[in-house]
Amino acid sequence: MRESRTPGCLSARQILWFVSPTVVLVFAGASTPWIAQRVPRFTFPTVAAAGAALIVLSFVNSLVQFVRRRRVEGHLRFFSVVVNVVALVFLVLLPLTHLVCAVTPSGDGTPRIHTGFGDWLGSEGYPRMSPHRGVDVAGRMGADVLAAADGRVTVARDNRDLCGLIVVIDHDPYGLRTVYCHFSEIAVRVGENVKRGQRIGAVGTSGQRAWPGFEHVHLELQRGRNINAIEDPLPRIVGCFDDTKVYSADRLVLTYPVKC
Ligand SMILES: [Zn+2]
Repeated sequence: MRESRTPGCLSARQILWFVSPTVVLVFAGASTPWIAQRVPRFTFPTVAAAGAALIVLSFVNSLVQFVRRRRVEGHLRFFSVVVNVVALVFLVLLPLTHLVCAVTPSGDGTPRIHTGFGDWLGSEGYPRMSPHRGVDVAGRMGADVLAAADGRVTVARDNRDLCGLIVVIDHDPYGLRTVYCHFSEIAVRVGENVKRGQRIGAVGTSGQRAWPGFEHVHLELQRGRNINAIEDPLPRIVGCFDDTKVYSADRLVLTYPVKC
């Protein structure tokens, strides 16, 4: 039997045929630094907002069709509804939740964490291809990024990948290193010894370009020289850097890499 629908209205299936390639293009573009750095910053958020509106429309349409089929044909067809629910959750509800969190000021003044260690959702709330290697600490564009602990700078360059402008600091006595990504400017040089709280650069959107409102520093904690030996930096973070405080010297104590 032909699919019954209101004349002039797009069916849920037609909308998904339009949305699916758009989603693939946005994901491919957003995860390719060369493309992400060249399109205007509002391009992907605008396309995502238009896609979200279409997905909501498609979801409502699928529900209407579901009820209509049950009345007219007397049986249930779940496929379209299930596809629409999945699209609604991953491409509308989760990003919307992240957006609300991003624009809501944190009560205690501490920086917001957009994405935690091992998360499968990115800063903007969309699914990731692999678990997150560090934490994304929210910050204003151009704000100072501070060294999380004493150490020696071993990398300070444009990585030309999703990390963008990167700084790596080795904290030798402890066999740990901290990695910072997405700077707009680097303020240290390779071989330089830095003190905890010293300015090492500025918050930016280099590499995997953050959407407006989601600017952040990607902070990663590695053990020794093995880039795959990573751990969650959060349990080691003791708070915002305060130069009036004395931090324990016998262990590595991370502070937030952005002022707060
Ligand atoms: Zn990150």
